[in-house]
Parts: sequence; C-alpha cells; structure tokens
Amino acid sequence: MPSRYDARPADVAGVLAGEPAYRARQAWDGLHRRGLDPQEMTELPGALRARLAAALPPALAAAAESVADRGETVKWLWRLADGALVETVLMANGSRATVCVSSQAGCAMACGFCATGQAGFERNLSEGEIVEQVVRARRRATPRRLSNVVFMGMGEPLANYDRVVAAVRRLTGDLGLSARGITVSTVGVVPGIRRLAGEGLPVTLAVSLHAANDALRDELVPLNRRYPLDVLMAACDEHRHATGRRLSFEWALMDGVNDRPADATELAERARPLGAHVNLIPLNPTPGWPTPGTPPAGVRAFRDRLRALGVNITVRRTRGTEIDAACGQLRAGHEVAPVAAPARRRWSSSSP
Ligand code: SAH
Repeated sequence: MPSRYDARPADVAGVLAGEPAYRARQAWDGLHRRGLDPQEMTELPGALRARLAAALPPALAAAAESVADRGETVKWLWRLADGALVETVLMANGSRATVCVSSQAGCAMACGFCATGQAGFERNLSEGEIVEQVVRARRRATPRRLSNVVFMGMGEPLANYDRVVAAVRRLTGDLGLSARGITVSTVGVVPGIRRLAGEGLPVTLAVSLHAANDALRDELVPLNRRYPLDVLMAACDEHRHATGRRLSFEWALMDGVNDRPADATELAERARPLGAHVNLIPLNPTPGWPTPGTPPAGVRAFRDRLRALGVNITVRRTRGTEIDAACGQLRAGHEVAPVAAPARRRWSSSSP
C-alpha cells in the first residue's frame, strides 16, 4: 500500500470499496484540506476510520521535534519508512507561516558550504513524502495561515523534478495553496529551470547564486562547471518571461570570499537585467566548511552597495535559537544524536 499521501483518489476509494462514493471524497478532503488523521474523521463511521488508518500509514514519523523563538519556529526530524532522515522547518510570521520542506534525503550537488551537500545523496523523496511535510506543518501552524512553502530544506528540488512538480500540483490542487506562495530553490539545474518554465505554474524560482563570476562559483557550487553563469542566466530569463514571476537570487555572505565590493558589482550586473530580487544571509558555518559568515557591519555595507547599484535586496533576519534549523545546516549532527540538539547555533529565515 502506498503511504498516506502517495495514495491516489482511486486507492482511497479502493479502501472504502462498497461504501457510497461520497465517503471517499470525505476522506480525501479530510486528509488534504483539513490535515486530519483518519481516526479524527468523526463524520466517518468508526470501522471506516480504522480501515483507512490501517491501509494508509503516514510516511513521516517524528524522530525529533524542536521548538524555538517562543513557539514561532518548529523543526521536525522525520524518519521515513526506510530509515532515511529528513527535516522540515515551520516559521511563523505574524498571522501567517512559512514551511521549508525537503525534496531529497541528502543531496548530490556537493556544495561544500552546505551540511546536506557535505553528507551526500541518499534518495529522492516521493510526492507523498513532500506533500505530507506540508500537511503536518499546516496543521501545526493553526491558527496561523500557512501561506508559503519554500523548497529550501534538504535536497535539490530540480534533481527530483517529476515528484517535486507533482507535489506542487497537489499543494495547489488538493491543499488549496496558492502557487504564488510556493518557491522552488535551485542550485542552477538548467534543464529543470527550462522545464519548469513550461509547466504553467506561477511559482517563484530562487537561484542559489552565491558568486557572480564563474571562477568563484565553480568553487562554491560545483554544478556551475556544467551550467556556467551565462547559461544559467539565460534559463532564468526564460522562466521569468514564461511565468511573469520575479526571480530571487540567494547569496550566503562568506567573510572575505563573496562579500567584497567587486562581488557586489558583479552581482548587480547579473541581477539588474533580470530584475532579480536578492536575498542576503550571512553564511552559517558548518563542520566541513568553517569559513565564518560576514559580520553584521559587512552585511550592511554589502547591502548598501547593492542598493546603490539599483538592486532590490532583503537581508534575512537572523534569530537566536536553541535548535539546529539554520539554512544549510539541516541534519547536521544527526548521525551522532538523532534527538533535539542542545543550544549552540543560530539560524536565519527570510523576513517578509
Ligand atoms: N538545493 C537547493 C535548495 C536547498 S538549500 C538550493 O541550493 O537552492 C536552501 C538555501 O540554503 C540555498 O540558497 C543554499 O545555498 C543555502 N545554504 C546552504 N548552506 C548554507 C549555509 N551553510 N549557510 C547559509 N545558507 C546556506
């Protein structure tokens, strides 16, 4: 039997065979719109609830859950059916909430500064494993409205293209989320960006740029050797024209590496022609890449320089926290201790 959210409407109907057709619709709605466990579907007779619960096991079992920022940030470490571990982070923002989901267990892109990249690739997540992360987070976010889903957890979403796009369609269809609130973040998988441009899905594309010249980007983001900047920028332009959506560039500021005045100039030259919005965050140092993030004064100077060059920028808010939920740090340390980690790191999230 498929997992709860890998099940198709026909699978749910099959479990409820012999019952009136509206029962399957009730169950499907309960699972998706309301995020209910079958046992909570009180409109169904007890025997049907039990049948659904037995036939459609959840894909995600919480191996650890940590809460920070007075309940405004929740991080889950999920254990999947085969033992793989992935993380989801829920971030509150006023009356709304954003969930950061994983698309793969591990990642094959090998960006040296990213904890997931350092650990290597394990496997793709299924469509249902992705959807279930959002369902769980949306339920937990209540009464806040889950308005945004960002594919910025573990993995490279465009390297798991079919399942990620199928999950996005489920989020907009079955869960009723707006495609405009969904961001797919990529290291620059050019064929994936081109395909995505043709899907008719108005999602936001975020490109993890981090360097605006090929020599430096080759070092920071190995995939750049396959799809260098000019090719990547052309694909971004195609996505922008096809969807009408504004592009984002992610830039993790690394002390003395990509935070110099010349880096700002090069970045502005890439961002301006595409009208791209730049998100700056200081790098979160990871065990395999001890370069510190740019200190606050340097972040401000870089931001001001970019602004003066006519680029739209958001500096991501860094909040202190007791949990390991930082960008690029997901899963760090879990091999050692798959439980809530003690206070020691800081993490970042985008401000609205
Ligand atoms: N593979 C996709 C999505 C996952 S990473 C991508 O690369 O876009 C989500 C974001 O976190 C990316 O912008 C990534 O570059 C950034 N990131 C990774 N490691 C980081 C670190 N140590 N500090 C700050 N940001 C990091």
